[in-house]
Amino acid sequence: MTNIQTKVREVGLYINGEYTKAMDDATFEVKNPATQEVIARVSEATIEDVDRACHVARNAFENGPWRTMTVAERCAKLRRMAEIILERKEEIAGLDAIDVGKPFHSAVQHEVPRAANNIKFFADFMENQGGEVYPMEEEYINYTRYEPVGVAALITPWNVPFMLTTWKLGPCLAAGNTAIIKPAEMTPLSVSLLGEIAKEAGIPDGVVNIVHGKGSVVGTALTTHPEVDLVSFTGSTATGKRIMKNGADSLKKFSFELGGKAANIIFEDANLDKAIPVSIQAAFMNSGQVCLAGSRILVQRTILDEFINRFKKAAMELKVGDPQDAETRMGPLVSEEHYKKVTSYLEIAKDENATLICGGKRPELPEYLQNGYYLEPTVYIQENPKTRLCQEEIFGPVVTIIPFDTEEEALRIANDTEYGLNGVVWTENLQRAHRISHAVRAGTIWVNCWFVRDLRAPFGGFKKSGVGREGGHHSMEFFTEAKNICIAL
Ligand code: NAD
Repeated sequence: MTNIQTKVREVGLYINGEYTKAMDDATFEVKNPATQEVIARVSEATIEDVDRACHVARNAFENGPWRTMTVAERCAKLRRMAEIILERKEEIAGLDAIDVGKPFHSAVQHEVPRAANNIKFFADFMENQGGEVYPMEEEYINYTRYEPVGVAALITPWNVPFMLTTWKLGPCLAAGNTAIIKPAEMTPLSVSLLGEIAKEAGIPDGVVNIVHGKGSVVGTALTTHPEVDLVSFTGSTATGKRIMKNGADSLKKFSFELGGKAANIIFEDANLDKAIPVSIQAAFMNSGQVCLAGSRILVQRTILDEFINRFKKAAMELKVGDPQDAETRMGPLVSEEHYKKVTSYLEIAKDENATLICGGKRPELPEYLQNGYYLEPTVYIQENPKTRLCQEEIFGPVVTIIPFDTEEEALRIANDTEYGLNGVVWTENLQRAHRISHAVRAGTIWVNCWFVRDLRAPFGGFKKSGVGREGGHHSMEFFTEAKNICIAL
């Protein structure tokens, strides 16, 4: 067990280098989803607070020194920020464990180091970036510069709060922009540390600001604010649509990373010794609250029985419990509201005549976790891929096995969704691996693996899973304005 204290924390807004209360002193409570204990009282920004954060970020952008300092100096500060994140990794992972309910050991081993790397990677990337040169015979020469855009609103969801925020903050700051971060109201604790981490790293006041509160109020104020130039958003497709409408009048730049309903396609020649443990991860990591989750498992009928038996056994062996416990592989769902949404699919599955393979109820847990929002790893078989169970993003530990006979049928089912974030293919046939990867309409395809990330590679969604790409030069293009300079020789 880790030793994170369950005192009630006071979490302020972070504006112009200081933690501060909201103008009207309003706060909201945050609960630990494993126990329902109140763990924090968080300042809830008013429209005036958002306004102040936007002015401060604008001033820090226009008047420097962040934008005007040398790239080397800016990137050195970002590398220091990455080091501080690693120095504080246990604290950050501990906050995500009590706030999101994610297993501490996984956060400390994977997510927080990745968060540090998000910042370091973009500092290195920015320093090594070149530009384009277009000579026009001997008369003129064109060259490009990549300049910061201005003030960025970085709006993030509750499922991986710290890591996803740094994935935006790294390129945003490396390019010389200033930021206003709006974490999800359910899980603001770890992200709120970014203020003091930025300060300790020597990043000037006003460059990083953090405002808390409801998306409908604080998020809307940011995405309609005339001083915000660009909005980088990760969250649900429904919210993405709203933000795009809200930002239209001020013609902001948008990047959207939205929902998913990935097909994880298991062909009869798959290596099941690898496919099963990885498919379990893809289904139940973070209690299935992962945009990239392989929540539709398409299995070729010739291996269906073997797959079901082995997958069911592995799902039932997953240790569900206290996120602080090193043995725990799956914690609770994030909140009561989300628990109700996810468990409503148990009724929908019944109405749609899906066959329950395992799960579908609360696990047996010690007394102190009785109020937690827990659900066992739940697996269904559904022959009809048009059902809600197979079409809607459940975002919980509920997966559906869909049998298929031929490659054509697998492809048809895989593409029969409004989402297109990612797909997974398991086969030992090289030609088929390429064929399927090309034909599935999604932004990332993993062949015989899942969740392997090279930060240089493009990341984002087809269809309703997003607009734009993050990663490497894709992030840098979003956070910069390209300028062409043409010189007569
Ligand atoms: P959400 O859309 O409800 O909220 C995301 C953020 O947007 C929160 O900070 C919220 O306060 C804010 N928000 C809500 N309404 C807003 C508005 N009108 N204007 C501005 N901001 C507003 O999403 P969620 O429930 O927090 O997260 C789960 C969703 O995120 C899932 O659909 C999941 O697939 C998606 N997600 C996608 C990725 C990806 O990389 N594609 C990664 C993680 C999560």
